[in-house]
Amino acid sequence: MIFMDEDLSFLKNGFRLDGRRPDELRPIKIEVGVLSRADGSCYIEMGDNKVIAAVYGPREVHPRHLQKVTRAIVRFRYNMASFSVEERKRPGPDRRSHEVSKVSREALEPVILTAYFPRSVVDIFVEVLQADAGTRTAGINAASVALADAGIPMTSLVSACAAGKAGGHIMLDLMKEEDNFGEADMPIAMTPSGEISLLQMDGNFTQEEFGEALELAKNGCRQIYDIQRKALSDKYRKMSGEKSNEVAEGVEVYE
Ligand code: ADP
Repeated sequence: MIFMDEDLSFLKNGFRLDGRRPDELRPIKIEVGVLSRADGSCYIEMGDNKVIAAVYGPREVHPRHLQKVTRAIVRFRYNMASFSVEERKRPGPDRRSHEVSKVSREALEPVILTAYFPRSVVDIFVEVLQADAGTRTAGINAASVALADAGIPMTSLVSACAAGKAGGHIMLDLMKEEDNFGEADMPIAMTPSGEISLLQMDGNFTQEEFGEALELAKNGCRQIYDIQRKALSDKYRKMSGEKSNEVAEGVEVYE
């Protein structure tokens, strides 16, 4: 925890409160397939955020009146554990978790090939174990990898991160102090081809600042995409290593 004082400086000699450069992401760690009962799962750490995502489906829709005859529906539930923040958070859904669930679902739904699975549902659960600003983007990154781990057909992965402004400086991936005491925060989600499926903004930017922050956030998403891809390919490499003796004759294994 960093204590802020009145002569608060978000950038000293070009470095931020946690030692990062303005265009640097927090360290990211991704682990794929961490839950054996889910069809797909992912654990992510983005700085001090710790988030787990579980995907179930495509499976039968309950209640049945929610079924769509032409496509699968996608449900997304974001939840913050009561121990994930400094003061105990009241357990259960609230306005914020409804909002985050809605925008996260909308960030992922466009890449999921829902028409392959009429009358079914893809359920995505995101549990925030530790929060330090940027949990919605961490949740989207984890959910995207968990969807791929579940084998849900998608046009691409989705990567998400925020850019914002603190002390008048545009910076990537704000941590809690920068988010709480800064002037603006703008989370985005993006496909590798640059299509944006989420853009929210808290606070104010000038037009130039908006352009600068958007470029910074897009660049962050590109870096996260590489980490997501690597985490998935590491998992499959490990699996193919473990099962290499069981591969049937005539099946080509790509290393
Ligand atoms: P995000 O986590 O996506 O940045 P917000 O901007 O709404 O979403 O929240 C920023 C941060 O504020 C969270 O990551 C968390 O650290 C903190 N926070 C959010 N809700 C609560 C809460 N009910 N109690 C304490 N801290 C919270």
